[in-house]
Amino acid sequence: MKAVFPGSFDPLTNGHLDLIKRASGLFEEVIVAIATNTSKQPLFSPQEKMTLVNSAIKDLPNVSAVAIPSDLTVNVARKLGAKAIVRGVRNVQDFEYEQGIAAMNKQLAPDLETILLFARPEYTLLSSSLIKEVARFHGDLAKFVPAEVGLALKKKMESDD
Ligand code: ADP
Repeated sequence: MKAVFPGSFDPLTNGHLDLIKRASGLFEEVIVAIATNTSKQPLFSPQEKMTLVNSAIKDLPNVSAVAIPSDLTVNVARKLGAKAIVRGVRNVQDFEYEQGIAAMNKQLAPDLETILLFARPEYTLLSSSLIKEVARFHGDLAKFVPAEVGLALKKKMESDD
């Protein structure tokens, strides 16, 4: 079965990457769908996010990445031929948010399943927005993001200084 993992990935964190790896063991194929146009003001361009995700998944043969235009996730999943939508849950806030999206998606597309994976305990407090905050003040990101992401964040913040 093919699954899609949609998200903003602004930027990809070790929490996202852990989910991708775990999903790649559950599904024949996993497509990381990078949202290019969300309500959040992104730090990284779609192309930059794509490069960072591609570098992180290079050793995972059944994982690929695509940039997706603003569209309903269910439409994206159908166009990609995916039967499952993978999302992550870190806490009750995530759960409630994901429950709402999953319920709506079920009404829109009964043939698709949402699969929620719990974040690993060490990643439950990790978010792209917190990472950006730590990067802004030049904190050490080595434990939280892949090396390429850390470098890209450093460059962004230096150009802002
Ligand atoms: P979105 O803006 O669509 O929520 P994100 O990139 O913030 O995009 O998150 C994509 C998915 O990854 C969401 O389901 C989110 O709950 C999950 N996620 C984010 N951070 C983590 C983490 N540290 N561990 C596990 N799942 C995570």
